[in-house]
Amino acid sequence: MNYEHLSDKDLQEYALQKQNCYPGIMEHIQQCISCQIKAEQYSTLFAAMQDLEKPSFDFDLSAEIIPQLQVKKKPVSHSPVYLSIALIAFAFVLVTILFGNAFLSLFLSMAPILFALIMTTVSCIAAIIIIDMYKKHKAKMNSLNYY
Ligand SMILES: [Zn+2]
Repeated sequence: MNYEHLSDKDLQEYALQKQNCYPGIMEHIQQCISCQIKAEQYSTLFAAMQDLEKPSFDFDLSAEIIPQLQVKKKPVSHSPVYLSIALIAFAFVLVTILFGNAFLSLFLSMAPILFALIMTTVSCIAAIIIIDMYKKHKAKMNSLNYY
């Protein structure tokens, strides 16, 4: 027999679910009068709590509160997509100015199918990143609109 008395958590578990509790708990409670009394007190307490009426206001809370809430006008959304496009365009112009001839000879010497595959891959990855960034931005802005 376990000589250490059961914890309050074990006693509450026993009081709530006698059939499903751990066998060691059942064994201890069958042999320990002190824990039997505590478990019975918890059972009585839980039964009394179930009989309590659920607390509620005696007035319509939503009718009182909703008129006081102000609807915030939606601010003009400065989408990160435009910023991304501007940055990509700026980078493209900068690279073209600095390395225009080198890039031109690089792409001209490359097989057209290879160039098409690279551009398709880059475009898809950029589109996925921009869409994901936009969704995250929109979710964050929506979460900020509740105040
Ligand atoms: Zn005990």
